[in-house]
Amino acid sequence: MDFKQIISHCKEYGFIYQSSDIYDGLSAVYDYGPYGVELKNNIKQYWWKSMVQMHGNIVGIDAAIFMHPKTWKASGHVDAFNDPLVDNKDSKKRYRADQLIEGYTDKIEAKIIKDVEKARKRFGDDFDEDQFKTTNGRIIDRQSKIDSILGEMNQHLKDENMVGLKELIERLEIACPDSGSKNWTDVRQFNLMFNTQLGNIAGEEGKLYLRPETAQGIFVNFLNVQKTTRQKIPFGIAQIGKAFRNEIVARQFIFRMREFEQMEMQFFVKPGTEMEWYRHWKETRMKWHESLGTSSNHLRFHDHDNLAHYANAALDIEYQFPFGFKELEGIHSRTDFDLGSHQKLSGKKLQYFDPEINESYVPYVVETSIGADRMFLSQISENLKEESVPDSSGKESTRTVLSLNPAIAPVKCAVLPLLKNKVELTKAAHDVHDKIKLHFNTQYDEKDAVGRRYRRQDAIGTPYCVTIDFETLDDHCVTIRDRDTLKQERVKIDDVVSKIRDKVDMNGLLTS
Ligand code: ATP
Repeated sequence: MDFKQIISHCKEYGFIYQSSDIYDGLSAVYDYGPYGVELKNNIKQYWWKSMVQMHGNIVGIDAAIFMHPKTWKASGHVDAFNDPLVDNKDSKKRYRADQLIEGYTDKIEAKIIKDVEKARKRFGDDFDEDQFKTTNGRIIDRQSKIDSILGEMNQHLKDENMVGLKELIERLEIACPDSGSKNWTDVRQFNLMFNTQLGNIAGEEGKLYLRPETAQGIFVNFLNVQKTTRQKIPFGIAQIGKAFRNEIVARQFIFRMREFEQMEMQFFVKPGTEMEWYRHWKETRMKWHESLGTSSNHLRFHDHDNLAHYANAALDIEYQFPFGFKELEGIHSRTDFDLGSHQKLSGKKLQYFDPEINESYVPYVVETSIGADRMFLSQISENLKEESVPDSSGKESTRTVLSLNPAIAPVKCAVLPLLKNKVELTKAAHDVHDKIKLHFNTQYDEKDAVGRRYRRQDAIGTPYCVTIDFETLDDHCVTIRDRDTLKQERVKIDDVVSKIRDKVDMNGLLTS
């Protein structure tokens, strides 16, 4: 499905609404609706269970959004959390210079993807994508053009060379996507942190920031957690929480929001072992994405050429969103930068005494950081489809189905009496619903013909529909319909819960 269809499906079916819709919305801020909140909670729960509950050496915290302002001085955010901003003088639209340039290379990449898909069709099963990409002249030229543009851009970003960025935009003749004009202002730095003021302290002293990442709440609590849980290195601290960034351009729905949610884990290791752990978390996190059924063709690693000031290695796990491969999760080897800076600025020791070598040191950190909202968007993009299926009379008809992994589906099961005006059926259906709702998020629906009710459940991703018909009254059996195979199975009412549990339980994912 294309991006527009995804966005309208999210609104129409109660997944995501624009914030403050009745006032024409607040840009890049979104609210999750009844199905959205369930899906997002399930994603967060799956992350939490696999990162915290499944690891004896990872514990969770929930730190406050407000932190002492010195935190952001130490972390480098006050001085360096900037994006290069450029305005178009004719359209008055504002852009991130690096995103304009990446937009240009994305177009070249789209051509490569098109060529690869054409070749895949032509060669069929014999197609070797890697070989094709490394031997086809046109693709090699296009790829080297992308590499050279991004290489130059990254060098300018690293050197904070705003003049170089502007020259590159002009040399590539990049036009404003809105107006087509090439009349640009100079590029300048813009700090992305939102700030606010404490009520009882005036001026700079009382200036607070809304946290731009959850990680710092973990670093400042490193010793509290280590001491109170008596963890030994290597160990991790995980957290899920809101983060805020004053993004300059935010036009990609929930991909880039000004208020969003992060799921982060900081893993503290002995200096010198960080690359081993970096590789470990790189593989582990990729498996986590694949475990939900996301196609491995839609996921890839992207090594950072331009390392942040705190990192000695960094990569993104990218997902092929409808607008191209983009960052979904970051894996960063952050060295001892954060703990070291907090130690310096606070004057408090943030060291670990390692009983194995009888020495104290500031641990190194490997971080895994994923946006809950981007994960949500990747799951909707991956699983929302239109397909042709036989209807009840056997004729082909089109359905929209959200084939989410059952473990994260917002509603696990819908209970449907065959007819709504037969009291004996609706009563039996309510009884079944009362039984099931103790175990899973379940919906009762009696409105419209059964076929239409199935379609409604398909559209929100419900893996199972339980139908109560006249035979149920005699044989105490119901029909369970499977969203994906469309197979219908007769099952005893007493067995319904265990039957559904087998298929929707998250434990199946955690132990596979
Ligand atoms: P980008 O380059 O896309 O701006 P980033 O490199 O700044 O992302 P990180 O600082 O590594 O992102 O943040 C970790 C994760 O938080 C990202 O992988 C992403 O999933 C999520 N994230 C970051 N910024 C946003 C945002 N504005 N809206 C939604 N999710 C975000």
